[in-house]
Amino acid sequence: MNRIRSSASGRIPFSVEFSPPRDAAAEARLWRAVREFERLNPAFVSMTYGAGGSTRDRTVRVTGQIAEETTLLPVAHLTAVGHSIDELRAMCGAYADRGISNILALRGDPPGDPLGEWVKHPEGVEYAEELVRLVRDMGDFHVGVASFPEGHYRAPDLEHDTRYLVQKLRAGAEYSITQMFFDVEDYLRLRDRVAAHDPEQAEKPIIPEIMPITSLRSARRSLELSGSHLPRALEERLRRAAGDGPEEDRAAVREVGIEVATEMAERLISEGAPCLHFITLNFARATSEVLANLGTSISARV
Ligand SMILES: Cc1cc2nc3c(=O)[nH]c(=O)nc-3n(C[C@H](O)[C@H](O)[C@H](O)COP(=O)(O)OP(=O)(O)OC[C@H]3O[C@@H](n4cnc5c(N)ncnc54)[C@H](O)[C@@H]3O)c2cc1C
Repeated sequence: MNRIRSSASGRIPFSVEFSPPRDAAAEARLWRAVREFERLNPAFVSMTYGAGGSTRDRTVRVTGQIAEETTLLPVAHLTAVGHSIDELRAMCGAYADRGISNILALRGDPPGDPLGEWVKHPEGVEYAEELVRLVRDMGDFHVGVASFPEGHYRAPDLEHDTRYLVQKLRAGAEYSITQMFFDVEDYLRLRDRVAAHDPEQAEKPIIPEIMPITSLRSARRSLELSGSHLPRALEERLRRAAGDGPEEDRAAVREVGIEVATEMAERLISEGAPCLHFITLNFARATSEVLANLGTSISARV
């Protein structure tokens, strides 16, 4: 199996997201997580793509090593930021050379200030939809895209956002992975909107992304960058757990984070989500605990 599929067994697969390591120590930590997840048999593992040249090189190198040295199925993120079309084609070639045929095609955010003005590379692409076509035209790639349960922060409204998600699917994307969210209703409404726009495209998996919160401070930073929001009641619960001291009570925050991620996963499973995609920050422990809580509802690779 070298493409992302949803499970027909009634049980649900899971997948995990890694980021390129910054240095040798971070790379060793990443590999510990890779080996731990390998034992748990995820459907796929994805590797994010940064803005700078050296991070990008590491993404390609480490994703290639995962393809060559493990039993895991890697999905390489690829963004249009700072790349001409020729460079994007060369990136696809570099991935293909390392045996990687699954690509998550993204526009990316402006380097420096992710919320700043988007400026297209003069010889690049404007939207992810064009990148989907470009990657598909390069050969035998399976392509996924991003979707946004709360709407993309640059989209004027949810209808606009859904229309362009459907266009990416029509352009040849085979599935989408959502931005992190904390209210399952947002995911269910996204699914409804896609079905209302195009029932055929709605057959493609919309894979929900779950971030088990282990630190309120780093969760706030991730939320700021992603444009996602914490529901007020959850924010309050996490703040109470964090306490009033100069340092947050990490153990208490973590306990709430794991409980909430487990509850979300249970609801998503009961609502028929095709797979659960976990943000790991290159640590296996929090996701493993959520998976252990879910027990037999999680299946091995489809
Ligand atoms: C699962 C996931 C993984 C991610 N991984 C990475 C990563 O590895 N590296 C990274 O840098 N970023 C990553 N991101 C962040 C992502 O790059 C940003 O959110 C980016 O701002 C949007 O990317 P996109 O691919 O959705 O863009 P697009 O689909 O191009 O959409 C961008 C905006 O333009 C609008 N739009 C789209 N098409 C059109 C059109 N034809 N006409 C008018 N408006 C249009 C959309 O509604 C949206 O507001 C990830 C996001 C997700 C959800």
